[in-house]
Amino acid sequence: MIVIDGSQGEGGGQILRTSVGLSAAMGTPVRVIAIRAGRQRPGLRPQHLAAVRAAAAVCAGQVTGAELGSQEITFIPGQPQAGRFRFDIGTAGSGTLVLQTIIPALLLADGDSDVIVTGGTHNPLAPCFEYLRDVYAVLASAANAQIYLEMTKAGFYPSGGGEIRMQLQGLGEPDAIEPLRLTDRGQLRHIEGRSAASYSLAAHIIDRQTQQALGRLAKARHRGSIEQAVWETFSPGTVLFLRAVFGKTVAGFFALGSRAKTAEKVADDCVDSLLAFIDSPGTVDAHAADQLLTIAALCPDESRYVAERPTDQLHTNAKVIREITGRQIDIAPADDGSALVIVHESLQ
Ligand code: ATP
Repeated sequence: MIVIDGSQGEGGGQILRTSVGLSAAMGTPVRVIAIRAGRQRPGLRPQHLAAVRAAAAVCAGQVTGAELGSQEITFIPGQPQAGRFRFDIGTAGSGTLVLQTIIPALLLADGDSDVIVTGGTHNPLAPCFEYLRDVYAVLASAANAQIYLEMTKAGFYPSGGGEIRMQLQGLGEPDAIEPLRLTDRGQLRHIEGRSAASYSLAAHIIDRQTQQALGRLAKARHRGSIEQAVWETFSPGTVLFLRAVFGKTVAGFFALGSRAKTAEKVADDCVDSLLAFIDSPGTVDAHAADQLLTIAALCPDESRYVAERPTDQLHTNAKVIREITGRQIDIAPADDGSALVIVHESLQ
């Protein structure tokens, strides 16, 4: 039994999600100990518990220790199984992270899957829905993963209640997954995005986020287009999402509004992240760098891409993936702040 220390490195929920996600895909039993041990509220929070249950459901696996607050689980996977699934986080915990957990197993399943997750769709420390659809799924399509996403309801903290539907084509075997070869990003083609807010908030917030972002982009000699959306939500919230589309890759950034934050500040935060990426030599943004590792590790061939910058999450995810798959993963930092990530060919 492979034992993964859930408190190593960055010490967050990602260690747990990667462990159960890969376990479900590869049929390798894992025990995860000291789950989120260093966090203020250690152990499984609702989002983590939903991710573990979802991982078990997509491979008919068995879990012990799957309870709120639990710091240790044992996960015995069955075979990846395509099908229709519905998971309810029950809080505003991130639905996108639950979906990312089960993508590896569903990709290796025979047949198509249709999954609905209810919970949060726009959380500060997780991919927002637009990021999942317009960045992660687009990059994953380079690995031959066909993932279709739709948000039927937005969900902000604290009430959540958002709903995302994911349809995914199972490929049946690791050989059908293509390696990621993203070492050249091509020319910047355009910048696009979405400014959205709950119906209950003043409509001018959406406009101010849009105008501030377009003004900042114009100053930096970039043109962009931003669609606007008004959502019915249980808790109020606002978001600005921007995506840079290059000839061979995409990168995405978002900022959420809050009581203490003006619409202009939301736009500035989002534009600052986008411009920093444009100035970097990265082919994928810092968050995609850690998220793509899990998909790259399913493919037996070598993958490589340039992370905008190496994060603790990237290093920690690489370590967990090495422990579970035995794959060699190198993260080579460069003087310009970026890092070349190489998932070496499988030796098995
Ligand atoms: P914990 O509460 O224990 O810190 P967690 O389960 O909420 O953990 P992390 O372990 O921190 O989550 O993992 C968060 C994931 O969300 C990482 O894959 C990270 O790249 C991704 N993420 C965070 N912020 C963004 C963002 N702005 N855009 C896209 N992805 C993001």
